[in-house]
Amino acid sequence: MAAAPPHVLLLPLPLLGHVSPMLKLAKVLSLRGLLVTFLTTEHVHRRLSADEGLNCRPGFSFRSIPDGLPADHPRSGGQFTELVKSLGAQIYEKYRDLLVSLREPWPVTCTIVDGLLPFAAEVGEELEIPVIVFRTSGPCSFWTYFCIPRLIEAGEIPFPVGCDMDELVRSVPGMEGFLRRRDLPSICRVKESSDPILQAIASATQRTTHYRGLIFNTGETLDAAELAHIRSTCPVTYTVGPLDTILCALDRSTGSAAGPPSSSSPGWWREDRTCMPWLDAQSPKSVVYVSFGSLTVLSRPQLLEFWHGLANCGHRFLWVIRPDLLEEMDGAGDIPVELAEATKEKGCLVEWVDQREVLGHPAVGAFLTHSGWNSTIEAISAGVPMICWPFFFDQMVNSRFISEVWRIGVDMKDTCDRATVGRMVNEVMEGERADEMRRNVVGLSEMVRECVDEGGSSRIHLDQLIDDIRALS
Ligand code: UDP
Ligand code: UDP
Repeated sequence: MAAAPPHVLLLPLPLLGHVSPMLKLAKVLSLRGLLVTFLTTEHVHRRLSADEGLNCRPGFSFRSIPDGLPADHPRSGGQFTELVKSLGAQIYEKYRDLLVSLREPWPVTCTIVDGLLPFAAEVGEELEIPVIVFRTSGPCSFWTYFCIPRLIEAGEIPFPVGCDMDELVRSVPGMEGFLRRRDLPSICRVKESSDPILQAIASATQRTTHYRGLIFNTGETLDAAELAHIRSTCPVTYTVGPLDTILCALDRSTGSAAGPPSSSSPGWWREDRTCMPWLDAQSPKSVVYVSFGSLTVLSRPQLLEFWHGLANCGHRFLWVIRPDLLEEMDGAGDIPVELAEATKEKGCLVEWVDQREVLGHPAVGAFLTHSGWNSTIEAISAGVPMICWPFFFDQMVNSRFISEVWRIGVDMKDTCDRATVGRMVNEVMEGERADEMRRNVVGLSEMVRECVDEGGSSRIHLDQLIDDIRALS
């Protein structure tokens, strides 16, 4: 009897920063001839279906399961943690039943699951379906998560009361020279080492060593040192990014009609394209692009500090203000009319953009970002230097790498005042340091491009991943 064809199921955490890169990988695997099922929650599925470019290829199907929250729950803004909790409680049985019943066109031979959904890995083990983990953050933060047990053992977590947050931490091998307390993932800022979120993420990260492999959306050379540490415990680690670029290249070479949507976040919010003609009218490298990703929320005072900082900095700006960006949803967060009037000429406000397209526009000179991993890798690919205002989780580590390791931006972590915003934007937009950061980021962008070019490390890792998946069927 002929062997069953490889059928891979992918399951992301239902948040954009996780869905988006895993959907890209799903499409890449499909373009390379595997049967692919992309499983997500009904809510995410509805949001994705709003995107017209998402027509399916033969052998590619979407499946969805409920997330356990009421239909009118926003699942975003400040309330996304309820989603994570609900998932943990609801999904195990449903996922198990689906995996058992999913026999068309063929049974699932391998799963690629989000590293933050350990139950999915448990189901795989129970049903003896091999599990590969996709970690949607970068290797640099993954390594810090991996070191949480040793940070606790060394007494470095929890931080001593009244300690200096600028002091270096000693228990993350390879980062002793530059990683300060404040640069550890935000979940390390706890009173007790038994904190449930700290423990949940630390143990999900430790478990990575049990699975068939670990995937990162990055280029090998960008994170070589951290990857060497990670491979000492997770030897089968694939770097297949930036997936955006791989997907575009594959799509061109296969002439696929049902390829990827050009957008970096298909159908999440309605894209406002009015900023494109506005950008076209600006001179090269003159605009600061401002976006805090899909989850960050700002208080009204914080919004106003950014606003004043941008108004005073002397540069034009394009600012993504998502419908749920503000903590206060009752209109109390509206911008004062005088301020909006005063910046009408120099600012363009939109609810959502195609970030990849914006970062690739010649008018964009810098990116004021929350340092989410997707945004970071997109900015590096586009060669745009960054002003970082990390909000939580891995963003604390990413922004330190941006400012101190890659030297492609500045880090305003833990501050939010108009003077700092204005000063840091100017530092990245003008002067000798700005030139140096720009040179560095253009260098990195060439480096990651080499990873995805024919024969580059990401292509080799992708081939290896596909061979390994085939061997599992
Ligand atoms: N998260 C959470 N509580 C948990 C476990 C996970 O809030 O108990 C989510 C949260 O959605 C956040 C993500 O974990 O966005 C952490 O993202 P990060 O990028 O640091 O993790 P990774 O991407 O490394 O897998
Ligand atoms: N994004 C977008 N349009 C916007 C703002 C963000 O397409 O107006 C995309 C961005 O390109 C990135 C994702 O949203 O792919 C955000 O992911 P990231 O990891 O940076 O942050 P998160 O939303 O997970 O905090």
